[in-house]
Order: sequence, then C-alpha cells, then structure tokens
Amino acid sequence: MRTLIALIACCLVLPPALANDPPKAAGHEASAEAKPDAHASAETAKPSASAAAPAAAAKPSAAAQAQSAAAMKAKEDEAEAELSIKIANRLAAMRANQAARAAAAEKQRKANVAKKTEAVTVAAMPAHGTHWSYEGELGPANWGKINVDWAKCSTGNRQSPIDIRDGMKVDLEQIVFDYKPSSFSVTDNGHTIQVSLSGGNYITLQNRMYELVQFHFHRPSEERINGRGFEMVVHLVHKDAEGKLAVVALMLERGKTHPTIQTVWNNLPLEKNDTVNPTIVLDVSEMLPNRRDYYTFMGSLTTPPCTEGVLWLVMKEPVQASPQQMALFSRLYPLNARPIQAGAGRVIKESN
Ligand SMILES: [Zn+2]
Repeated sequence: MRTLIALIACCLVLPPALANDPPKAAGHEASAEAKPDAHASAETAKPSASAAAPAAAAKPSAAAQAQSAAAMKAKEDEAEAELSIKIANRLAAMRANQAARAAAAEKQRKANVAKKTEAVTVAAMPAHGTHWSYEGELGPANWGKINVDWAKCSTGNRQSPIDIRDGMKVDLEQIVFDYKPSSFSVTDNGHTIQVSLSGGNYITLQNRMYELVQFHFHRPSEERINGRGFEMVVHLVHKDAEGKLAVVALMLERGKTHPTIQTVWNNLPLEKNDTVNPTIVLDVSEMLPNRRDYYTFMGSLTTPPCTEGVLWLVMKEPVQASPQQMALFSRLYPLNARPIQAGAGRVIKESN
C-alpha cells in the first residue's frame, strides 16, 4: 500500500520535475494530449487507492483476515503493476512531449536568430549612406538602396548611360563652344579623376548658356553607340543659370597622344581625395573633335544621386589618346563605368 501511495505521489510530483529535465527521448510528434492524460491518470489512480481503504478497515476472523489480507495483497500488487505501466506510459509520453517542445523552442530560436541577422544586414545599408562603388555590395545594382535620395538610380526611367541607337536623323542645331584657356584643379575623388575649371567656359544651345563646371573620365566608355563601346570617355559637365545640366561626352579611342589629357595627367594628385592646383592654364577647346556632329537625348547623372533631367550631347567623332595615357588611367581606375540603362522609349536625335 505504501509503495502504491509512494508511486502515486511520484506520479503527481514527476511532471514539474521532468519539465526541467533535458530531452532524452527523441520525440517525433508533439503530443498535445500528453498533459491532460497525466491529470486523467492521476485522477483515476486516486479513487482506486481510496476504494482499497474501506477493505482494510474491516476486521473479521483471523483466517478470513489472512485470506482477506492475501486478497488485498494480490489486489494491491495488481494495482501496483497497473500503475507502474501507467507511469511508464506517462513517462514516455512526457519525454516525447518534452523533446517535441525543446525541438519547437530550438526552431523558434533559430528563426529569431535569422530574423536578427536579416535586421542587421538591412541596418548595414543605412538609408543615408554616402559610400558607393562600381562593384560589390555598394555597386550600381544597389545605389538606389544606399541612400533614400538616390532612389532614382533604381526607379528612374531616364537613366544614363544608354546604348545610343535608332536615332532620328535631323538637322540638329550646332553646339556653340566658347572655351578659353582657364585655370584648373585636378582631384582624385575616389571614383574618377576630375578637372574643375574656373568660370568663363560656355556652350550655347537652344538659346541657353551652360557653363563648364568640370570634366572627368570613365573607363571603359559608359555610353555605347549602336552597341559599340570605346576604351574611355570624357564627360564635360555644364550647368545653366537655373541649375539645369548639360553633359558633352567625348569618346576616347587609341591613337596619338592627347596634349590636354597629358596636362591633366602631369598634375595628378598623389593621394585619393587630394587636389592639385597647377599654376598653368588649360584650354579645353583643344579636347574637342573636328567634326561637331552629335547625338542628343535626355538622361541622368551616371553616378549617385542619378539625378534626371540632364541634357546629353554625345559627340559622334571620337577623340584620340595614346595607349600609354589610357594605361596610366587604368592603373588608377581600371573600371569606373556604370552599366547600360534601359532606353525606356526615350527619343534620341542625331545630326544628319
Ligand atoms: Zn561621367
């Protein structure tokens, strides 16, 4: 009897104790009914114990008493065996349940870790980033995500560069170049070599005067003409009084040494983000090709923030630079060209 009570007590005490046990049995299914079962078995065990109590209270003859004691002992043994089986089953169910819960908790923990990692990755790309590059995570495909102000890089539909094809041949107005020898500075800005000019250099087009602010280089050429790329390109960036931009693009091909480019190379800064301010002057008009035919279309800056509304003027005739001059730039910037963007049905006009 004492054993039986001990077993019942054991059964009642076991559940909270087991909850702290490490999972031993590898449970496959989470048994949701295991817990209610535990209560059910504990409750069924209790009445059988109390039912046996009145039998012990009766006191007939010694023989009958012995017989009754033997019968009771047999009954107790039977109940004990039954209870042992129940406890064993209960233990197995609890262990399975415990293992299933541990597995579910582990799954949840892994999911939380994954969520956290994702959040960290997103945070690593701040919406006000200022760093960008031509390759890798900060490359052209992600420019629009680096900074909210650069969204046009991914959502715009007048992006540059493009492959210039199917132009409409018309009598395009001549671009009037009014460039003169000017003082200049050369900066290695970490993305290209940029030459800034003192004021006084203009182009005039459609009754608008745009002043030359700076020019810089890309390798290979960003624009393509009927699928053909060039070894390099020079972008001459102009701005009018209202802040509208017009960029003249000069394709560079291998040939003879270019004197203006040589002057720039002679004054390259030794470090990135450094500027050299030479005492000599630069005549940008010497950079222009003899033929002034061009392609024109609307596009954007080819670097973040990819601002649209830029008037592009791409000269048809390439300009020559020596292989040595090309090689020198490629040592600094072997690749600084944005990939070709969708034409998106924009109109391209070209000189007849
Ligand atoms: Zn450019």
